[in-house]
Amino acid sequence: MFDKLKQAFSAVTSAIKEKELNDRDLDDVAFNFQIALIESDVAQSVAEALTSEVQKSLAGTKVERSVDPSEVVGERLNAVLKSAFDKAGTVDLVANIRERSRGGEPYIILFLGINGTGKTTSVAKVANFLKKQGVSVVCAAGDTHRPGAIEQLTEHAERLSLKVVSQRYGADPAAVGRDGVLYAKAHRVDCLLIDTAGRMQTNQNLMEEMAKIARVVRPDFRIFVADALTGNDAVSQADLFNKHVGFDGAILTKADADVRGGAALSIVYSTGKPVIFLGVGQSYDDLVPFDTQKFLGSLLER
Ligand code: GDP
Repeated sequence: MFDKLKQAFSAVTSAIKEKELNDRDLDDVAFNFQIALIESDVAQSVAEALTSEVQKSLAGTKVERSVDPSEVVGERLNAVLKSAFDKAGTVDLVANIRERSRGGEPYIILFLGINGTGKTTSVAKVANFLKKQGVSVVCAAGDTHRPGAIEQLTEHAERLSLKVVSQRYGADPAAVGRDGVLYAKAHRVDCLLIDTAGRMQTNQNLMEEMAKIARVVRPDFRIFVADALTGNDAVSQADLFNKHVGFDGAILTKADADVRGGAALSIVYSTGKPVIFLGVGQSYDDLVPFDTQKFLGSLLER
């Protein structure tokens, strides 16, 4: 799935053959590494920061005769990446929902993201995932702007035998969210999933709208949904939502078509927030929990 990014990493390690890593070699390797990262859809700002971090960590390194220098480089790369992913941490949504449910309160998840990234599909996939774990779910149709958005969510919910809380188009999304919370409390539903609008043209209004919903419903978890195929865009969207609304974890959709993997690395590195799921297709079961160990392992294996 992430072959191209993997190649970027293995190119760095195999480029270093000398026993002593001198500055010139390192500059060349760093330059090529940065290009390879960008070619793998790593955002420019992240590629620069990552390269300079790796370069700093390697500067002045001497390698024992018996040791393969590329192993040393591989270890350093691993350490730099692991530290970024460790800082972002991991999330056990089901455990968090169960804990909240023991206190008799619904766990509220707010979905954020730009139209077309796969947000509504991801709401349905997460609902399906939670249902299979024995968690009861209700959805709220918080996109009251885009024509068809309420019907789209309702259709998914019907297929999954779930209730949708909705109002008419043009209604205040925060009020829809609040209705969802009231419904979940009254019916003792474990988890409320709130879909939201994602129109691109009016970023400022969108951010204000999202911030208002968040103020009103006080979600336990905010999931940012990004299209893995959009590389730099996914990261600038992540930064935007993180700055104005804040989020706790990301879903990367269309990872089935993503041969590069740069978006996952970029979002974690840039926002310090974990990727929690990958969307890997169009059906409800096409959602896999993101496995950091596996991701890093596959990038650095040779
Ligand atoms: P929204 O506007 O963000 O709510 O986007 P939608 O949920 O309507 O999804 C947009 C399109 O992307 C639809 O055709 C989905 O079937 C498709 N889609 C969503 N997630 C995935 C995924 O993980 N893989 C693939 N291949 N397609 C996806």
